[in-house]
Formats: sequence, structure tokens, C-alpha cells
Amino acid sequence: MKKFVLALDQGTTSTRAIVFNKKGEIISKAQQEFKQIYPKAGWVEHSPQDIMGSTVAVIGEALVRAGITAADIAAMGITNQRETTLVWDKKTGKPVYNAIVWQCRRTADYCEKLKRDGFSEKIYNKTGLVPDAYFSATKIKWILDNVEGARARAQRGELLFGTVDTFILWQLSKGKIFATDYTNASRTMLFNIHTLTWDKELLRLFDIPKSMLPKVYPSSHRYGETDAGLFGAPVHVCGVVGDQQAALFGQLCTGEGDVKNTYGTGCFLLMNTGGNAVKSRNGLVTTLGATTAAKSPQYVLEGSVFVGGAVVQWLRDELKIIASAEESEAHALSVKNSGGVYVVPAFTGLGAPYWDAAARGTICGITRGTTRAHIIRAALEAIAYQVCELVTAMQKDANIHISHLSVDGGASQNGFLMQFQSDILGCNVVRPRVTETTALGAAYLAGLCSGFWKDEEELKKINAPEKVYSPDMPELTRFELLNGWQNAVKKTLS
Ligand code: ADP
Repeated sequence: MKKFVLALDQGTTSTRAIVFNKKGEIISKAQQEFKQIYPKAGWVEHSPQDIMGSTVAVIGEALVRAGITAADIAAMGITNQRETTLVWDKKTGKPVYNAIVWQCRRTADYCEKLKRDGFSEKIYNKTGLVPDAYFSATKIKWILDNVEGARARAQRGELLFGTVDTFILWQLSKGKIFATDYTNASRTMLFNIHTLTWDKELLRLFDIPKSMLPKVYPSSHRYGETDAGLFGAPVHVCGVVGDQQAALFGQLCTGEGDVKNTYGTGCFLLMNTGGNAVKSRNGLVTTLGATTAAKSPQYVLEGSVFVGGAVVQWLRDELKIIASAEESEAHALSVKNSGGVYVVPAFTGLGAPYWDAAARGTICGITRGTTRAHIIRAALEAIAYQVCELVTAMQKDANIHISHLSVDGGASQNGFLMQFQSDILGCNVVRPRVTETTALGAAYLAGLCSGFWKDEEELKKINAPEKVYSPDMPELTRFELLNGWQNAVKKTLS
């Protein structure tokens, strides 16, 4: 009887492996950071060798720390930084270029041209995405256009494309598995999320041969085995899922209207909209959620807050008015309210629902009585206001009223922030016991597929809420605060 499930989380700054037992408890963890490569302003790359080296190392280390062998693993789930693009040789496995990271802006001008040429609607209608340099399509095109000989080799069928999951699967299986899942495919800007196929017209537009593309399966699926020589025994890969959709599944937001928010450097808010691919009127993207094979496609509305926990880093590193992120909570709680102060951290412009790239931040409402604590509190409140505005936009788009918000990520540990979030949303905010929801989601999907866990009902019992925050603010106060926030935002718009 195999007693464990392994999750591999290949993220933007580090690669982690976590071993879970049947109760969903963490048995061991291993993590390796790797180099960020910035060849030019706005360009970001990773070394494919670093991605694979750290992957193999952390899996081995997690097994050793747990005191188990690969033969004890019932199934492995892979979750990964989305959109990051690799192109490699079909025979040798050798990448033709570094991995181009999702954050990389090198194709931004080309994306602006796509918009000017009127392709936005077509792309949105097929892929659910707004043309942007984030997504893989223009990164693949860049490699084919700029790496010597790449286009000719691609046309001869010698090159393969993959997001990070596909590259890892291919490498760990020594070229036997060439596949991805719906969630990763839906972030390439090449995948039609309605027909669930690679889109011929978009492949033509970006001049990408279809022979480069992997097969696409549901997130919970038997993808195949890792090469037996790697970890001492083959490991069955039964789950593949992009990081944000992994967190949504890890929070068991599997029903229509379920919403999770991850409070990291930025915030990622995802709403499950069930079988409906909801069209957004607020600039949110529509994407595919993680499913088991038996379930028909599930759609998700996704939005992000550019500056989430990063505003706390700014208080610490630039303003130097706190020594640690954790300290912000005590300062915020030391005052009754923000004293009319609002911090709008539009450091790099504002996203949904404002979409103003030229907006810049502001602190307003300052009086002679304003203290450091008021500013710290206002900065934390700003995270909650921004999330609240995204939730409101999603509720309008999907015509769904949410019952509660599931939370995770570093800043979800801040009790003041969670209570204020609940107050300002007017609904419960639920933080689970295991907040490693990204890895947990990948583990759940793999474990469900392999029969390690029976069904979602069983999973619901294993990660009970650690804390539920309930709204405790008079409706009038809530209304006045939101009003004040919106006025402050107006001051930042370009
Ligand atoms: P990422 O995955 O984006 O690196 P994490 O989930 O690790 O992010 O969260 C880190 C972010 O959360 C940082 O921006 C940090 O400032 C913020 N953060 C961490 N702990 C707290 C806290 N107790 N209160 C407020 N913010 C916090």
C-alpha cells in the first residue's frame, strides 16, 4: 500500500517538493531557489538546467527527509509557474533558448500592435485572454523569429514547445510524455477554451507549427511515469495544473461561485463559474479550471491586484516604518481606524476594474494627527479594498453573489487584514489549516486520479478551516469607507 502523494511546485523564484500523507498533512518539504536572469530591462529568463536541476534535487530531498523511497509514492502532481515558455529539440531534449518567464515584457510592443490591428476581440473570444506579453504565444513566436535556424527546424518538426509542466514531464520521462493540461494550455493564447483544441487560426497568426504543441488532458489524468533511473523507481504522474488553478482546487473551490484569493506579492483572485465561460465587461480574463477526467470543463474568472503584500514590503524597505511584515498587524490594531488616511499603491498603474497603466500611487487624507500607525493601517486596508473591487467586478460579470472568500498566501496570516477584508466584503473569509494550497491542489488532483483519495467529499474533511473571519462592521461605516477609497483612487488616475 503506497502511503504518500508527492507535489512538485515549480514556481517563479523557487522549486519545491512536498510529501503529503492520506490526511493531507505535510510529511516533508524541500525547496531550492534559482537564478533570475535579466538580459535587458523588462526581460526575464530562467535557465532550463536550473528548472530541471532544482526539480530533481527537491524531489530526491523531500523523499529522503520523509524517510521514504519513490516506491512509496502513490502519485505525483505537478504545478507550475504559468505561461513561461520553453522550446527544445525533439531528439536531444536540448532547449534552443532559455525559458522566457511570464513576467518578461519583450513582446509588449508586438502585443500593442496586435491590439491596434484589431485582434483583441478575436483573441478574447477564442482564448478568454486579453492580448498581452504574459502569455506564451508571442514568446514562442519571438524564439522562432530570433534564434538562428529555429523557424526552419520548427517547420521540419524538430522542435517542441512546452510550458514548464510539459518540459518537466518530457524531461522526467526521458521524452516519453509530451503533454500538458487544460489550465496550462489556456494560458498560452493559442488554445480555444470553448472547443478545447489548439486554434488553427491563432497558430497561423503567430506562425507556429502545430507539430510543436503537446497533447492536452484534464488536470487529473494518468500522464505516465517518470524514468525509473531517476528516483530509484518510476513515479506515476497523475496531476498537472497551473499554479493559480492549483490553489483554487487546493481550496476545494470546485463549485460554481466559489472564490479564492492568494495574498502574495500581488493578489490572485479566481472564481469558479462552473460550466459557463463568463465574458467579462471589467477586463478580467476567462480561463480553464482544474478538473478530474469525469467532469466537463470548468471555467474560471481571474483577476489580479498588482500590488498586494508588496505594499507591506514597501513600508518595510522604502519607507522603513516597520521592521518586518508581521509587525504591520500590531501597528494597524493600535489605532481605531485609519483616521481618514488612504494609501493607494498604484505603483505600476491600476489593473481591473480601472485599467489605467499611467496611474500612480498616493497617500491622502493626512492631518496633523496622522501617525505612522494610521499609514500602516491604511496600507493594509488598501490590499483589502483592491480585492473587494475585484470581487465586486466578478460578481457583476458572473451574476453570482459569493457566500465566502477562501484565502491563502503570505499576507493571509495577517489577522487584522483578514478581519478588515471580511468587514469590507460583508462576507466570511475562510483560512484553511494547510495554506500550501498550490501544492495541495496538485496533490489532490493526482491523488484523486490514482484512487489514493476517493472523492472530493473525502478531501473536504481533511483540510478544515483553521479560522473563519465574519463581518463585524456597521453597514454605514462600510459604505463610507468604500466611498472614501473610491475618492482616493480617483486622485491617482492619469
Ligand atoms: P509570493 O509567493 O508572491 O512570494 P508569499 O505568499 O510568500 O508571496 O507572501 C509574501 C508577501 O506577503 C510579501 O509581500 C509580504 O510583504 C507579505 N506578508 C507576509 N506576511 C505578512 C503579514 N503577516 N502581514 C502582512 N503582509 C505579509
